[in-house]
Amino acid sequence: MLLRLPTSVSEARECLAEGAVPIGGATLVWATWQRDGFPELAMSLRELPEANVVGRRTLGGAVVLNRIDERVPDVLRLAAATVGTGAVRRTATVGGNLVGSTLRCLLPAALVLDARAMVLEPEGVREADLSEVVAKRPVLLSLRWREPVACAYRKLDGEAGGPPPLVVSSAVHADDDGDRLRVAVRDGYEVLSGSALSVTDVEEALSGLRGTALGELPAASWEVVRSQIAGLLGGRGAR
Ligand SMILES: Cc1cc2nc3c(=O)[nH]c(=O)nc-3n(C[C@H](O)[C@H](O)[C@H](O)COP(=O)(O)OP(=O)(O)OC[C@H]3O[C@@H](n4cnc5c(N)ncnc54)[C@H](O)[C@@H]3O)c2cc1C
Repeated sequence: MLLRLPTSVSEARECLAEGAVPIGGATLVWATWQRDGFPELAMSLRELPEANVVGRRTLGGAVVLNRIDERVPDVLRLAAATVGTGAVRRTATVGGNLVGSTLRCLLPAALVLDARAMVLEPEGVREADLSEVVAKRPVLLSLRWREPVACAYRKLDGEAGGPPPLVVSSAVHADDDGDRLRVAVRDGYEVLSGSALSVTDVEEALSGLRGTALGELPAASWEVVRSQIAGLLGGRGAR
């Protein structure tokens, strides 16, 4: 296997056009490649500046999870801090988690930030929404979002060998037509999300969310959502 380390977007485009497979920290692919065989050409984005940004409104696809600190909104920082073990977080990347893993602990956080993805194609870089990233698995260069007014994240404790633990993320954004509350939940392997507008009252917000895909959540998961929203809106002075 030849590993290319492009240092510019145009070089990365060339690698992709030559059929290079993206690789992050190899925490997932290594075992599969050892079993099924290695690709001829792979490409790591770790030397590409555009894929290594960390800021209040952006995060690169090649950023290693344990580099995600208070520069990004808490919801994303806390999501990264709860992925796997310290050893996994020292190696695994944002791109590998969002595009390549089935657990995707970062996805609910990215959804409530209303993040957009910058994806690399042989023709160039373009913006895509997260549902497309999950469905089509393009090369993720970076995420961008608008800074939220407030946000929260919780991952329940999991049982060894059991189903993935519940993840609940939420964020409030100041929109032109009022504050918008976004909530995303990973329940099992499924990620559901919804939003409610003009949030001034906790019960009103919850009733708005019930009318979205989140309304399908089982009662126990809904209680975790309720408590997080009460804390998030209560902390901002909502009734
Ligand atoms: C012990 C253990 C515990 C874990 N626990 C959790 C957990 O609690 N929560 C959770 O969410 N995940 C968990 N994971 C999964 C972990 O998040 C992934 O291993 C990791 O995110 C994969 O990242 P990586 O950079 O190593 O990807 P790689 O193994 O390098 O790649 C994985 C896949 O992603 C693709 N890929 C990599 N980078 C990009 C990119 N920039 N654009 C497009 N595709 C790309 C690769 O082509 C490959 O198909 C765990 C993993 C382990 C081993």
